Amino acid sequence: MTWKLTKSELDNQNLLVNESLLSLGNGYLGVRGNFEEGYHDGYKSIRGTYINAFHDETEISYGEKLHAFPETQQKLVNIIDGQGIHIYIDDELFSLFDGEIIAFERNLHVDAGFVERIIHWKSPKGKELKLHFRRVVSFEVKELFAIDVRIEPGSNVEQVKIVSTLEGDVSNFVDKSDPRVASGHAKRLKVSEVDKKGAYSVVKDTTYVTNLEVASVTSTRVSTTNSYDSEVTDTGVKEVYICEGNGVIDFTKFNVYTDTLRHGKTVVEQALAIQDELENKTFEDLLDAQKRYLDAFWSKSDIQIDGDDELQQGIRFNLYHLLQSAGKDSVSNIAAKGLSGEGYEGHYFWDTEIYMFPVFLMTNPEIAKNLLLHRYSVLDSARERAKEMGHTKGALFPWRTITGGESSAFFPAGTAQYHISADIAYSFIQYYLVTKDEDLLKTYMAEVLFETARLWVDTGHMLDGQFRIDDVTGPDEYTCIVNNNYYTNAMAKHNLLWAAKVYQQLKETESLQELASKINVTEQEVNEWLEAGENMYLPYDEDLKINAQDDSFLKKERWDLENTPKDKFPLLLNYHPLTLYRYQVCKQADTVLAHFLLEDEQDEETIKNSYDYYEQITTHDSSLSYCVFSIMGSKLGYDDKAYRYFNETARLDLDNTHGNTKDGLHMANMGGTWLAIVFGFAGLRVKESGISLQPTLPKQWNSLAFHLQYQGRLLKVRMENEVITYTIEEGDSLEIMHHGKPVVLEKGKEVEMAIQV
Ligand code: BGC
Repeated sequence: MTWKLTKSELDNQNLLVNESLLSLGNGYLGVRGNFEEGYHDGYKSIRGTYINAFHDETEISYGEKLHAFPETQQKLVNIIDGQGIHIYIDDELFSLFDGEIIAFERNLHVDAGFVERIIHWKSPKGKELKLHFRRVVSFEVKELFAIDVRIEPGSNVEQVKIVSTLEGDVSNFVDKSDPRVASGHAKRLKVSEVDKKGAYSVVKDTTYVTNLEVASVTSTRVSTTNSYDSEVTDTGVKEVYICEGNGVIDFTKFNVYTDTLRHGKTVVEQALAIQDELENKTFEDLLDAQKRYLDAFWSKSDIQIDGDDELQQGIRFNLYHLLQSAGKDSVSNIAAKGLSGEGYEGHYFWDTEIYMFPVFLMTNPEIAKNLLLHRYSVLDSARERAKEMGHTKGALFPWRTITGGESSAFFPAGTAQYHISADIAYSFIQYYLVTKDEDLLKTYMAEVLFETARLWVDTGHMLDGQFRIDDVTGPDEYTCIVNNNYYTNAMAKHNLLWAAKVYQQLKETESLQELASKINVTEQEVNEWLEAGENMYLPYDEDLKINAQDDSFLKKERWDLENTPKDKFPLLLNYHPLTLYRYQVCKQADTVLAHFLLEDEQDEETIKNSYDYYEQITTHDSSLSYCVFSIMGSKLGYDDKAYRYFNETARLDLDNTHGNTKDGLHMANMGGTWLAIVFGFAGLRVKESGISLQPTLPKQWNSLAFHLQYQGRLLKVRMENEVITYTIEEGDSLEIMHHGKPVVLEKGKEVEMAIQV
């Protein structure tokens, strides 16, 4: 059970949720878990296929548009539908909503990389049919989405007809009542080519505004047939196979997708060429390749929990979807919903850097590196945005984006979240600490750090000997446009001091000289970074002995969470933002998150007091919150809380606890599950001094095991029976800190320590 997810619901609500849960992807292409034949009339479906970063632009209409408000926003486009397969037995169309279901189950296999649908059905006229659908979005050939269906008609069936479609007339999903889902501009593609080229069906679509092209070329194969016909319509291609008798039929459909962003102008030709290369591949070959890819992935990324199968299933499910969602080329990143749905319109947020990047960094650093390179690729847009926002220099990364331009129309909880620039800097620094990749440092990281440091100097100001940053929004979106948000200031300080450090480290090198002349960095400027960083004001309340979330937060009235009716959550859907801003109430971890990322800024007592305080007023209306409270609960010895919050993250989508899984999976939370185990229970920290662990094993579990990659080593960590065993499986010896004490690890030698000290 822990390697698969089984579903068999047929009610509308669950069907929609299962479309997200059973979605497939490979970082480039994603397909929701729809039924090939669709649902019955009256049932809603978000039928979707997406290419990461393939987008159109829409105009943002404002009642009152002020200076530097973004004019357009990008939107991930639902592309050509290659899912369609309709099966008739003696002219009765198969549908799970007619006739009788004798058996029905769907499985997602996270160890093997495919979804299946197993059906035993009796038609309204009493004829039987067994179907076994399997689908793959290939990790090996990123453009490929394949479906295989084994059709086993009952003995009284005389003829089977298979109608396979490739449809270019598609729209995006809209929901006017939910700000987390788009409310308009559903139609973003026009069909620009429909053709049958030899055995291949071809559809090409073009976006309205960005003029990007997407092609889908489909090939179908059937194990036995008596007649074949195809029809090219205005918007797609339909293929019809007729098979006489009731023998078993195997039908396979390979859909290849290409797009302008990766394949240039010749999208159709390239899709055809990929199809030619696939000519001799069978569906079983694809499955073998999936297995090989996933064996390699799981051997380094699996987390094994003994003691709770549901949580074990949750963590594997979450990791699998993270892998499916992560862009692995430099034009894409990880959308807030991955490639599993249209919530947040395929945009990339800080979710990547703070919640997902660390998972890849510690398990698959090459994927982590691509995510950084993607951010680097949009550095020019960030420079431009800084200028638009009135800064004389520096780079301001957009709050939500696909192409690098700001896509947020609501600046108080969008553009004002300046911290994203420090978050990106933070992830570069973490990458450097974990990999010691000097090339990346010189070629990309230095420039990003310098430009973001410049932004802080330009945004803040010195007052009474302290550097202050006014009118920004921290992570907590229920408190907007405030002075000196603790999180932002602490992260900016880190950003500034590291920028200065990197400058000093590279000072005598040619690469620094080149960079300094390219972007005109001077010693004097570096001194400004140091001055701002060293004198950064970090709000602290003497009475409560906590870090204040910002200058005004603690003076506001407290929101009465206890007496707020349950149906008023999430608050953002029920109260005007200004109402929320006037109270002490948090959507998500803010100061507590800063205490996790930068724990050395404060003593443990302040961190504990802050946790106790903010926990009381945090709604966790954002799914990015629980994992942070779990991690910090572990650090502070709040074992029960840590475990309870961890439970909330591990199955948030599986149990649809936020009620909106239908719009796509909560990718940051999925990363958070891993963080809560590795940074939480195992207490991992990565600092300049090296890595340290402060492990605890939840009392509910018998054992916990996982791997970490660190500076060329593969380190296995296993906890059981009050003992933690560290083993270097690959790479040289390493000194780590275990509960503050140095431990030397040598390759292949198991080192056992007491979990608790
Ligand atoms: C959260 C943000 C997050 C966004 C996308 C919002 O609900 O408050 O922190 O970046 O969702 O996941």
